[in-house]
Amino acid sequence: MRIAIIATYTHPTRRRIKEPSIMQSAVPELIAGLCPPHAEIELFNEKEQDIPLDRHWDLVFFSYLHSYYEHTKVLSTLFRQRGMVTVAGGRHAGHFADDAANYFDAVITGEPEPNVPALIQDFEKGQIQKRYSLASWGPDAIQPYRYDLIDFKNNRVRLAGIEASRGCPFRCNFCVLTGHERYRYRSIPTVIEEIRTKMTWNKNFFGAMDNVFVFLDNNLGGSPKYLRELCEALIPLKKIWGCALTFNILKDESLVRLMAQAGCRYIYTGMESLNPESIKAMNKGQNKLSEVDEVIRRTFSHGIVLSFGLIVGSDGDTNEYLEKLPEYLSDLKYFAVTFLGIVCPYPETPFFREVQSEGRLLPGTISRDYDGYTLCHRPKNLHPSEVVEHFIRLCGTLGTLPNIVRHYGAWLMRSDMPRYRSTLFFSGPEILSIRNPVKNKDRRYIAGMDPLEDWDAQQMKTLGLLPQRLS
Ligand code: SF4
Repeated sequence: MRIAIIATYTHPTRRRIKEPSIMQSAVPELIAGLCPPHAEIELFNEKEQDIPLDRHWDLVFFSYLHSYYEHTKVLSTLFRQRGMVTVAGGRHAGHFADDAANYFDAVITGEPEPNVPALIQDFEKGQIQKRYSLASWGPDAIQPYRYDLIDFKNNRVRLAGIEASRGCPFRCNFCVLTGHERYRYRSIPTVIEEIRTKMTWNKNFFGAMDNVFVFLDNNLGGSPKYLRELCEALIPLKKIWGCALTFNILKDESLVRLMAQAGCRYIYTGMESLNPESIKAMNKGQNKLSEVDEVIRRTFSHGIVLSFGLIVGSDGDTNEYLEKLPEYLSDLKYFAVTFLGIVCPYPETPFFREVQSEGRLLPGTISRDYDGYTLCHRPKNLHPSEVVEHFIRLCGTLGTLPNIVRHYGAWLMRSDMPRYRSTLFFSGPEILSIRNPVKNKDRRYIAGMDPLEDWDAQQMKTLGLLPQRLS
């Protein structure tokens, strides 16, 4: 049995651009770990390489985000026309299972661990079902990823990743986890054993990335007690790692120090906004803006490079705040914002329900617009065109070479921890990547106003597919 597992991708510029980066979707390796030993498996990550459309597999699994849905529908339809059986999974497929059932032979709406093996068994008996929704087996059912199938030649900077936990205890109103996934975690000995014995390291850059990995968890700090115990168990391994977690953990100095001792050198945190009104509108009370300055300095001083994500277009944003944002960041000596997006009302979130009930979704919104860089709703204090003007200007202002130099200058001498400076150097180019989504000058960044990618639009016309409308 030949199986392809494909993580699809479309670039925010709506041009066919690849964007290999340190963090990539690891869903293909996760699914591969659930396939039987006799299966012949190929993994594809479209962020790194094109999908070979002339190949044949018996079974094709697709993992995609909301904004890749139209593109994934095209690929699935092309494969089905050639006799292949296709499967959709992930958050979008789980929420829009009936719609997805029109374009895929089977839809997985539950967690992969019970459902992927069940689907494959049915497929081998010639009895594949339309829907797989078996209940979760809990976090300890997570199998080791097939690290051996990662091709680091396709992406020279990519790091192997592992999940220690799933879900998040917080309830930010725009987050796809809110109301859907309670926080749960794997046993620490299992995680440690997988890192110690199963992980395959990136051998590029003369061994500089050997023994370096990332936690793929949405929030590794969902339980401070668990994180503390995990760090204690990681210390003897002498590995270097990065993770994403919430601001409340950064405020706990002893825990941050312990993380640094355990090899943590990079933390991404969704700061989202420096405007208290916006933080309130997002229900993100764990972010205490009065402590940002102190937290940034302390985290770097312990030898951990900190990176923030910000979003614009929330209901608390005003012209005054967005105009002054670069100044606020400069006052904090904080030049390393590595993600800047537009807040997105994903359909399964409280934020979507709010803007929909208030008639604030923009007309003509389709799933392609749900990419985090396209305004899909009318904010309370700003005209849509104002949000986009601020967004494009901020991408240009923050993602610059001088900001990389300032970032290095502000933090290079902050810590002597091993691998701190090399991590800081690696983080510099991320700052420039903020500009990437706005490199298409013809893009409007307002839902319903930008056409699909040429190839997808042509294929959809030929195949008779329509975009999924969400307003
Ligand atoms: S803290 Fe992060 S992961 Fe948790 S609900 Fe908020 S946005 Fe989602």
